[in-house]
Amino acid sequence: MATVVQKFGGTSVADPQKIKAAAAKAVARHEAGDRVVVVVSAMGHQTDQLVELAGQITPRPSAREMDMLLSTGEQVSVALFAMAVHALGHQAVSLTGSQIGIRTDSRHGRARIKSISTEQLQNLLDGGSIVIAAGFQGIDQHGNITTLGRGGSDTTAVALAAVLGADRCEIYTDVDGIYTTDPRILPAARRLSSIAYDEMLELASLGAGVMHPRSIEFAKKFGVPVMVRSSFKEGPGTMILSADRAKPRPASGVALAKDEARITVESVPDQPGSSHALFSALAAAGIAIDMIVQNVGQAGRADISFTVPSDDLAQAAAVSERVAAELGAAGVSHDDGVAKVSAVGVGMAHEEGVAGRMFRALADAGINVRMITTGEIKISALVDRADAAAAVRAVHAAFGLETPTPGEATEAEDHVPNPSPLEVVRRLEGMEDLAVEDCVLDSSQALVTLLDLPDTPGVAADVFAEAGRAGLFVDMIVQSHPRDGRAEISFTVPAADAERATAVARAIAAARGATVADVPHVAKLSITGVGIRSHAGVADRLFQPLTEAGINIDLVNTSEVRLNVIVAAGQGERALKALRKAFGLPAGGGREPAASPA
Ligand code: ADP
Ligand code: ASP
Ligand code: MG
Repeated sequence: MATVVQKFGGTSVADPQKIKAAAAKAVARHEAGDRVVVVVSAMGHQTDQLVELAGQITPRPSAREMDMLLSTGEQVSVALFAMAVHALGHQAVSLTGSQIGIRTDSRHGRARIKSISTEQLQNLLDGGSIVIAAGFQGIDQHGNITTLGRGGSDTTAVALAAVLGADRCEIYTDVDGIYTTDPRILPAARRLSSIAYDEMLELASLGAGVMHPRSIEFAKKFGVPVMVRSSFKEGPGTMILSADRAKPRPASGVALAKDEARITVESVPDQPGSSHALFSALAAAGIAIDMIVQNVGQAGRADISFTVPSDDLAQAAAVSERVAAELGAAGVSHDDGVAKVSAVGVGMAHEEGVAGRMFRALADAGINVRMITTGEIKISALVDRADAAAAVRAVHAAFGLETPTPGEATEAEDHVPNPSPLEVVRRLEGMEDLAVEDCVLDSSQALVTLLDLPDTPGVAADVFAEAGRAGLFVDMIVQSHPRDGRAEISFTVPAADAERATAVARAIAAARGATVADVPHVAKLSITGVGIRSHAGVADRLFQPLTEAGINIDLVNTSEVRLNVIVAAGQGERALKALRKAFGLPAGGGREPAASPA
């Protein structure tokens, strides 16, 4: 007998007819002999309407009361859903988050799940009932109702599937699967038959609104197979599964975060502790940072730039200004009109020239790239918001995403679940704790920086097209926020290729009036895990031990599954020790060179 969790989003339960149709799906499963748990969102735009209602009372409602209010949306829909199941002649019991025993921390509006009790659920399932669980909500240790953040019903569903050891979690929504990019933005987008956890995690956290990113954290941590499909029409949907089962493609999808803001702290003294001071203050304010870019800098000073969601700009700018003054930085600038376009693919790490392709496409569309960061399986470019849709179109086309990869299955394959959760889960106190799997040192990289480049479309494209032609495997790429019309691009390559990479950089620099700085050996430290970016303060936990060890950070990039820093070659071992200790990893490990360059 299989256990299945089915989740129905707001549009799937928008009116009584749709609730009845969804209930029929759950009943069909139950009649086929499965144990069925249903997770339901609030009807239609109910949550938006409640937010709006609160706004008519006060512009700044208390977070606790907001959660009390918003949780009612799901309470309505679970009761109606249970009635619909009864009407079909079956047993069903609706439960709120607190009745299930979904314990969370006390951060109202963005609570994280600590534990879920399964006794009540199991008893009801054993007794032959379909359990109808309210999505998006829980209860803290003081009995207050909490919510998990907008879109959080996905997370409830996957978390329940995890604790019940369910055979699969089916997400029913208004699209028939995961697409190569949001089909509402780009009609040429195509449904994928499968996608790897890491890819979905990056896409979701980089802006693809189809899944709540934290739901994929659970899926990956606990090995839950997730299927995304349409509520309204039959079809194969998309399977989200572990990387060894998904198809490696240089890019599987393109995500857009439309409402980003960029902040730069200018001319910060380039010494250990500067980044720590900034990011610990931001973490203390509960602000999750997105792209972090620190330029290599000149004359002992560097600029530190990062992005935050537009809504957090005012607060993040105020914190940055305070820290900038303390550090003796020149000042703080910001820009509220930017958007981030990202290409994501697990096959990226094994192919040359991927970055070149993306930047060429942006340049050909006349789009200027304002900042670049990369991760093992993603490349993100910051562009003007006005260019956002054109940028998505250009990148999507550059990777040929509108046509299927030869040999790609169009049916989602049936998948044998892997019920054994990662070893790392055993070290966690709360189910949603940050899960750091490993920290490794790679001492085989060289760093090349182009300084003083003109800030015009096509510069990054030329640099990485040249690098691709020279057969260079480029790993990390960072382009800092341009200042005074000049840009700076840094990248790492295997140390064995350092001379060739420098020669390529010199040729480009000569043609553009730029200069080159190279360091033939640097140390790269990589922290891998789950939830790295979404936990405010991880960057800070990285900077603090390095600061205490007196180690300066030359370059950093972050993603949802990995955080990389470059430090001086001679400091690699000490940095490794400090970081492994800080993240509770066994001493003495982590010395293998990183598996594969990007
Ligand atoms: P639900 O209410 O069922 O949770 P959401 O509105 O949260 O549904 O998510 C579904 C929407 O996500 C789709 O209608 C689509 O516009 C959007 N979306 C964004 N990126 C993607 C993508 N890569 N694939 C599919 N849908 C996407
Ligand atoms: N109803 C909540 C929201 O609209 C949760 C969800 O639908 O996932 O954000
Ligand atoms: Mg949703």
